[in-house]
Amino acid sequence: MVRVTVPIAGRPYDVVIGAGVLAEASLHLPGFPKAERAFVIADREVVDRCFAQLAAGLGSAGLDAVLLTIPSGEHAKSLQVYGTLVHQLAMQEAHRDDVVVALGGGSTGDLAGFVASTYMRGLPFVQAPTTLLAQVDAAVGGKTAVNLPEGKNLVGTFSQPRAVLADIETLATLSERDFRSGLAEVAKYGLTLDLELLAMLEADPGPVLARHPATLEGLVARCVTAKARTVVADERDAGARLFLNYGHTFGHALERLDAFAGRTHGEAVALGMVFAARLAERRGLAQAGLAARTSRLLSSLGLEVHGRLPPADDVLAAMRMDKKFHGGVRFVLLRDVGKLVVVSDVTDDELRSTIAEVGATT
Ligand code: NAD
Repeated sequence: MVRVTVPIAGRPYDVVIGAGVLAEASLHLPGFPKAERAFVIADREVVDRCFAQLAAGLGSAGLDAVLLTIPSGEHAKSLQVYGTLVHQLAMQEAHRDDVVVALGGGSTGDLAGFVASTYMRGLPFVQAPTTLLAQVDAAVGGKTAVNLPEGKNLVGTFSQPRAVLADIETLATLSERDFRSGLAEVAKYGLTLDLELLAMLEADPGPVLARHPATLEGLVARCVTAKARTVVADERDAGARLFLNYGHTFGHALERLDAFAGRTHGEAVALGMVFAARLAERRGLAQAGLAARTSRLLSSLGLEVHGRLPPADDVLAAMRMDKKFHGGVRFVLLRDVGKLVVVSDVTDDELRSTIAEVGATT
């Protein structure tokens, strides 16, 4: 088991990573002395696999687990599902000291975090991520959100959890596709913030792909450490935290144009990183070779590095809806691996040409 502290000023919390940590929740959670119940907002696909262990762990901590099931995946991140959940909390007379727990992937965590931070102006919140993507990234850092038809994550809050329980055992049942989707965020950390991780993945992705529990524990701990460092430096996305959005401006646009039902978040971000590397080369910011290296890494992890894309004008319009829009779309780019820079003077022509490259490359 590994414990990584996120030392946010005044509200530090631990991310506990290891096999079986859900069932041992009482050992890892902070005390919630006035709480009676823990409202567990769970992706319906994970209820059978994970709820009993978590409920037992919460029971040992003196909390009665109340299950609130939501649809699986990105569709749950909607105002409709949000509305249903807050009504359920009100009908069950949840009070301010009760705890909300997210059990599921990043979609569940983003939605449940939004519920927890807004119902009665805020209940204590615990993340129990069950996908690789959520363990390495989404569950840490306190961004909560739901989507609108107009764009991704447009309604949300910054609100840190009190604890994160990342049970590595839950990853055994993830589909290949969802596992690879998480590897896109892992690759992001390697390319941007953790060159040792990059070297490890480039040398031999085999142990990671084999999902060896000890390898996964180390992998999650590395990514969480990198994320914690960044979030502590910039909790509200004003500086360094923007770097975590590498590949995301283009990725979010693709997700939205697919109406959140086509490519997964990780698949879209993988293409977004190829896009960003090609754009950096096109501008002469990065030397030739960055895009090829990025594509090699992502392909070795089983991710798509080119593919059918929506019309360029639609992608441009969707990118303008990104929250990082600031009079011009801001892009996080790399001069080289580990060397991040934010640019905001990219022209539509550059974007169209780069989109054509990513869409057409074979
Ligand atoms: P997800 O939550 O939609 O889960 C993907 C699929 O995995 C779902 O079908 C789910 O039912 C299934 N699943 C979950 N756990 C499982 C398990 N243990 N075994 C088998 N199946 C399981 O997607 P995700 O990839 O975890 O997260 C993507 C979301 O996270 C996106 O909405 C993205 O915007 C968000 N995100 C948020 C942040 C943040 O900082 N808040 C960061 C990155 C991504």
